[in-house]
Amino acid sequence: MKERRILLVELHDRDGLSVWSECVAEAKTGYSSETIDTAWVALTDSIVPASIGQSFEKPNDAHTHFEKRFHDHPMARASVEMGLWALEALRSDRSLASLLASECADTASPKALVETGIALGMQSTPADLASRCQAAVREGYRRIKIKIEPGRDLEYVAAARRAVPSHIALTVDANCSYSLGSDDATLEALDKFHLSMIEQPLGRDAMVDHATLQSRLATPICLDESITGRERVDEMIERQSAQIVNLKPGRVGGFTESIAIHDRCLRARAPLWCGGMLESGVGRAYNVALASLPGFTLPGDLSPSSRYWDQDITTEPWTMDESGNVRVPLDRPGIGVDVNESLIDDLTVRHAQFSAR
Ligand code: MG
Repeated sequence: MKERRILLVELHDRDGLSVWSECVAEAKTGYSSETIDTAWVALTDSIVPASIGQSFEKPNDAHTHFEKRFHDHPMARASVEMGLWALEALRSDRSLASLLASECADTASPKALVETGIALGMQSTPADLASRCQAAVREGYRRIKIKIEPGRDLEYVAAARRAVPSHIALTVDANCSYSLGSDDATLEALDKFHLSMIEQPLGRDAMVDHATLQSRLATPICLDESITGRERVDEMIERQSAQIVNLKPGRVGGFTESIAIHDRCLRARAPLWCGGMLESGVGRAYNVALASLPGFTLPGDLSPSSRYWDQDITTEPWTMDESGNVRVPLDRPGIGVDVNESLIDDLTVRHAQFSAR
């Protein structure tokens, strides 16, 4: 991807506090049926008019309010719901990470550093992929994930395996592209590469087929697209469809649902990590806060700003140290980063404003 359209939301409360949040929908359907444009319509026609001037005791109440009315627009409603969590953090003068930690079932302290992995897109040859993997190893990433699809799999995985030393986790993400029955030989052959996980090999609704596949594989399966809410995690654990969860807060409608999923995974001892949607530095702040919770036991897709952007829209770019860690801004109330408003103004192509009377 060479260009990324971003939908930002700025929320103001009546006391004059304000926060920025981000809707993580992409420009085109594929990963999700939501897009920037469906989210724009859902937000401007429905979600924002239904929330403006409303009084919510807690951000969780906003989740309940939105979930019933706008169920099919989780990324759109998450941009408002997560902004409300950030606003609540500001109002109570604490970091977003501390607020989220205080909402977990078992009282928790947020981590000060979160481990970072990199996701590498499809490359034109196995040799190209191997050199991208070697560069990621040199940069200090704690986990390297490569994309696979039918016809571009075993040769690529073999090349990546040779390039990534065994102390760094190597994983593959199939984004729902395989089918049980027709692709069994390929999927079973992945076991020999000692991957840390195979992410979303089958379709998003294939909970039974994933269970069948998991029973045949030594490699843990991780679900991403399938995890649309806490009930899907219950089903995954119950059926043993997979062992690991990739949680993207936008995909599940925000932080209320994310914390519920975090608590379930901790209880079931299911490893959890925070996925990415090629966010700007604003969306990154929300993911870093979430990934600081104790149940996030695996490195997340939390690459520094320089991985994606010529210039990020936050005044300070997100950075990663040489050990592959991102620092959680626990010392600052709210999301912990400032936005470059003049850069946002220069980049803005569409704008709508709503006010309570
Ligand atoms: Mg994925």
